[in-house]
Amino acid sequence: MPQGRLVILNPADRRRKVGEAPIASPEDVKRAVDAAGGGFECWSSVPMRERGKALSKIADAFEAEGDALARSLVDEVGKPLKEARGEVAGSIGVLRYYSAIEFDGRTVAREEGENVTFYTHQPLGVAALILPWNYPLLVMSWKLAPALLAGNAAIVKPSEYTPLTNLLATKIVANHLPNGAVQIICGGDSVGEALSSHRKVAMVSLTGSAATGPKLLRQAAGRMARVTLELGGNDPAIVMPDADLSKRFESLFWSAFRNAGQVCIAVKRLYVHEKIYDEVVRRFAGRADALRLGNGMDEATDMGPVNNGAQLRKVSRLVSMAQKDGGKTVRGGRRPGGALAHGLFYDPAIVTGLGNDASLVQEEQFGPALPIIPFGKADDAVEMANDCGLALGASVWSEDRKRALGIAERLDAGVAWVNAHMALDNAAPFGGFKGSGLGRELGMAGLMEYSAPKTYIIK
Ligand code: NAD
Repeated sequence: MPQGRLVILNPADRRRKVGEAPIASPEDVKRAVDAAGGGFECWSSVPMRERGKALSKIADAFEAEGDALARSLVDEVGKPLKEARGEVAGSIGVLRYYSAIEFDGRTVAREEGENVTFYTHQPLGVAALILPWNYPLLVMSWKLAPALLAGNAAIVKPSEYTPLTNLLATKIVANHLPNGAVQIICGGDSVGEALSSHRKVAMVSLTGSAATGPKLLRQAAGRMARVTLELGGNDPAIVMPDADLSKRFESLFWSAFRNAGQVCIAVKRLYVHEKIYDEVVRRFAGRADALRLGNGMDEATDMGPVNNGAQLRKVSRLVSMAQKDGGKTVRGGRRPGGALAHGLFYDPAIVTGLGNDASLVQEEQFGPALPIIPFGKADDAVEMANDCGLALGASVWSEDRKRALGIAERLDAGVAWVNAHMALDNAAPFGGFKGSGLGRELGMAGLMEYSAPKTYIIK
């Protein structure tokens, strides 16, 4: 495992260093797991209602530090300040949602005279929370809030590209918990591997790419550790001929390009009815032309850079391959020069002319590039949408809500929207089918991932 420090450069200007984080050694990983064992003993004996109150205090503290957290996200992820503020607000929202859950943990299944059967929900122990770089704070909060409410101790492992906001946030969290109940260790994939392979880690929750999920399953298999996997998506959106573009277009556009397309549930394939296909392509190209790319700290910026070099190369490669697959880049698809040349910027690519088997359609681009594909019949759109190994989200855009819902029911996806995409609800489960993962986050389903039922039968 490499020793030393992670050096975080600003993706909007790679000449600027944002900060550093220590890389955990194998000894650090062991120490963190041992300390978490002690933290678990203490925290799991605190009543759930008190644990909920602690979450509420953490939410208050995030609110008080909201500006610092948002600015840290801009500096290390590259997203615009308004989106970073939204991420902080979303994190506070999920903490408050779980803090308010009234759940005493005991359910009576049968009571007949002296014979009683009841069950409780036991925390699992030490939970490893392994994070991606696109929403470091939000994804951490999705995991940390239910893990802590259920009574687990947590060890956070941020992405090697974005550890700084997580360092700041876990410091805030730790102020409200007993020693060892929350910790953070930084580093790359090998640190994640050492943590998730540790025999005393009872549960691993990963948000990451579809390629990492199976590796993690293998690492956890030997000891049967509980695993939750929130993996990549390649979400389709189907635009029906009756979609009211004057009303819906702005929302449709940002469903593909928020956070420069680096969202697991961004629209990554757009299927548009042939009657309105030319108009939709024209609107996408025009809207992208009007975007202001820049440093997210500038309030006027609409879109920031891609977060890291590997991701930028992936997007560029898929757009280049699209040309070979017979596609046409209607606009964008190159790195801008001038003041933006020092950052990892990519002018959003709108690509037409591709078949459903093209790499840009089948692979998750996770960046500012969108293939737009025409269809004639809704059945054909559904078939193309479902012809993919990932199944996280999917949407249908139409003014006929009943018909749109009927189409949404046929789409392979853990979350289906009508006239929206990306919007989530803390009270409802989120997660994918097929290669997009195992288990769910958010809602009661998200809480259950961090506990296991224990049944008591008393005669
Ligand atoms: P990644 O899989 O490369 O890394 C994610 C995390 O896993 C990092 O912290 C990394 O160090 C760690 N890791 C890698 N190999 C590991 C191993 N063998 N054992 C343990 N940990 C390991 O993903 P990324 O590039 O950081 O994130 C982008 C991906 O995440 C995209 O595919 C995106 O769709 C997905 N994502 C999914 C969701 C969701 O909720 N479904 C949300 C955000 C991002």
